[in-house]
Amino acid sequence: MEIIHVSAECYPVAKAGGLGDVVGALPKYQRDLGHVAKVVMPMYKTKFLRDNQWEVVHKGYTHLHNYWFNYTVIKESTNKLGFDLYLVDINGLLDREKIYGYGDDTERFFSFQIAVVDWLAAWKHLPDVLHVHDHHTALIPFMVKHCYAYQKLQGIATVLTIHNAQYQGQTGMDKTVLIPEWDIWKRGLLEWAGALNPLACGIRTAWKVTTVSPTYLEEMRYSAAGLEALLEYEKGKCSGILNGIDSVVWDPATDRYFDNHYDVATVEEGKQKSKAILCEQYNLDIRKPLITFIGRLVADKGADLLPQVFEESFYYIGRKMNFFILGSGLPEIEGRLQAIRDLGRGDYNTYIGYDEGLSHLIYAGADFILMPSRVEPCGLNQLYALRYGTVPVVRNTGGLHDTVIDYGDPGGYGIRFNHATPQDMTHGIWRAVELYQQPEMLREIRQRMMQLDFSWEASVRAYLDLYEGMLRSK
Ligand code: ADP
Repeated sequence: MEIIHVSAECYPVAKAGGLGDVVGALPKYQRDLGHVAKVVMPMYKTKFLRDNQWEVVHKGYTHLHNYWFNYTVIKESTNKLGFDLYLVDINGLLDREKIYGYGDDTERFFSFQIAVVDWLAAWKHLPDVLHVHDHHTALIPFMVKHCYAYQKLQGIATVLTIHNAQYQGQTGMDKTVLIPEWDIWKRGLLEWAGALNPLACGIRTAWKVTTVSPTYLEEMRYSAAGLEALLEYEKGKCSGILNGIDSVVWDPATDRYFDNHYDVATVEEGKQKSKAILCEQYNLDIRKPLITFIGRLVADKGADLLPQVFEESFYYIGRKMNFFILGSGLPEIEGRLQAIRDLGRGDYNTYIGYDEGLSHLIYAGADFILMPSRVEPCGLNQLYALRYGTVPVVRNTGGLHDTVIDYGDPGGYGIRFNHATPQDMTHGIWRAVELYQQPEMLREIRQRMMQLDFSWEASVRAYLDLYEGMLRSK
């Protein structure tokens, strides 16, 4: 089977969150099972681009309404990632430092999608499956079905994976003119709640829709940022497939971002060494449990609650723990987290920014990872934490519900709380401090977590079953 993944992110080329990790790993595992899996993404100005070898495979010329543009497709020539990686270069639109956050993101991702289908239409053969990810690529199923220029691609099976339904790419209906000439009777497929909504369009037009955990799919039927009714209507083609982790990149025994490697047998000493480095570097007290948060500083992740929770924890529980935050996001949350540095001096610190290497060191050196998410489609942090023997303290939602069992329950290993409130979180932190004071139980829990299997093997099989089902129905 030949599968083309189209995505805005792919680790290690460009990553802003879990989407990058998934698209960087899933194709590798599909290839291991004997399939041809390729990734197509925009050509941003990244370090990966500068450090690798590329060959030009296609040059094309197409248009975004009346703006005609040249595009070039380049391929990484050493197969470094374990699958074929293609980047689409559109001069002036995609070749920028950041992935998202520009005023013309609509035009950037529309033109990227148009270039991708234009390129595919020039192929001599057709791939079996087009697998698109999130709203940045969710117009592709519509384009291959309803744009006159791409009718040749109509028979390709399409899958949309929703990594996060909070982001839908809505824009004005006036932007429908940007899509190459399409069947005007299909206008309703582009519109949701009076706007052009690429994610909603993808849900309607893709052959199959997946979300990244079964519980998130259930939750979306009553909480999906306005798409609830649509998901209820389309539920017959939706399924939830839990993300896996790339167990080669995320392995404490071989991790390339730190030196003090460890495995199940040496977890205590290994973690202690990485913790010592972190505590030394960030002025924390190694004798106390190190509780961390890694991620986007936005309300969906519950990051707005952190400053208050830290203050309350120091007040009610006492200075019995350290907190260390790695993240970036809303300036207001960043500012509040920095503002409590004085209060927490010696027991609290932050690194505001994005640092892949530091994140690996933290998974290794921290004792607990806090995930108070209001919305968590799957969540990869807790899966990495489990592999690194770091106890997840999580809100019971989405993928966190599917992957973390409270240590008070049979076979459990994490700490779960129900509400994204300062009270519930502080209680979770109190339980973490209590657990830290029982080293034997903590050791046992660490060893149990590290032996859990959240690798891609099972999920890859589920995706292949889905593809095969579509191909059979053709
Ligand atoms: P989301 O995709 O919603 O942001 P996930 O839990 O699915 O959340 O994935 C987050 C990924 O991004 C993890 O690999 C995490 O380690 C990484 N990450 C998030 N913020 C940072 C940061 N500031 N520095 C380094 N890695 C980060």
